[in-house]
Amino acid sequence: MSARGTGRGTSAAPRQGAARIAAPTAPGIAARIASRGARAAHRAALVALLSAAGCGAHRAASDARVPAPAADAAVARPAPATGASAASAGAAGPALLAALAAGKVIDLTHTFDATTVYWPTEKEGFRLEVEHDGPTPGGWHYSANKIHAPEHGGTHMDAPVHFAEGRLPADRVPLAALIGPAVVVDVTARAAADRDYRVVPADLRRWEQAHGRIPDGAIVVMRSGWDARWPDRERVLGTAVPGDVANLHFPSFSLDAANWLLRERNVAGIAVDTPSIDYGPSKDFVVHRAMNGADKPGFENLAGLGRLPEAGAVLVVLPMKVGGGSGGPARVVAILP
Ligand SMILES: [Zn+2]
Repeated sequence: MSARGTGRGTSAAPRQGAARIAAPTAPGIAARIASRGARAAHRAALVALLSAAGCGAHRAASDARVPAPAADAAVARPAPATGASAASAGAAGPALLAALAAGKVIDLTHTFDATTVYWPTEKEGFRLEVEHDGPTPGGWHYSANKIHAPEHGGTHMDAPVHFAEGRLPADRVPLAALIGPAVVVDVTARAAADRDYRVVPADLRRWEQAHGRIPDGAIVVMRSGWDARWPDRERVLGTAVPGDVANLHFPSFSLDAANWLLRERNVAGIAVDTPSIDYGPSKDFVVHRAMNGADKPGFENLAGLGRLPEAGAVLVVLPMKVGGGSGGPARVVAILP
């Protein structure tokens, strides 16, 4: 969410909903995996994928402000914790490619366009400015645009510095905080009955009773069914009136749940399919302050969570690597078990 931030975008060609990654055909993938030479290329591609949050592992490791071991470790071990079937050392690349070929890598991202929902206080939303689109004097086609957008809105990350002075900005959030087992806490029925529902520790304990202890490095995801409301501003936020922060209504986490996760478990971060990791009526943003204060990011407005199992998937969040940013637009995918 953004405490400042109205979203009236002006870009062309609005699209909605979560796009799916178009998977190459299975026979094509299998043939390529069978090729020893191609396998090395795929390993390189995996490293590229896992370091695509910014400018790559090598640059991150050489950046004095970034703890190199953490960045390297995250690249070497795609899943930093238990519960990830595709994570055994050395096999992650082929496992990822097999998952891709089987349609088990899914996109959990809302498309950024003129319909993207931003906080009511945001003066302008996402805008695509066309710089050139058409033939050049040389005869070939050329298309290039400028993108304008607030950091907070659409599917995005809240970096720890968003609500905690001195904590990590967007470019310094380690990959281990962006990739982890997806712990999906389903409160769809509760949120349908109460649009201001907040996830409580009992919801987290109920998940553990069904699936075991929340693994270290997990990203705990609230699934409320809110992504189906996108991009209907009134139904997503509770109000479609610019500047109206008095009538925000949507579910999220409670402070009790955030504190329980911080004290009792070792999670990487939390995620929601609503606009904020604090529920709509919040005026003090206590969940943001607690999570960000512990140097943990939040991920907001995830899409397509209906395809995500309660346990067993790996979440990969790749926000734009904005130097000193308080967050930013993110591509979120999950690798299904
Ligand atoms: Zn935000």
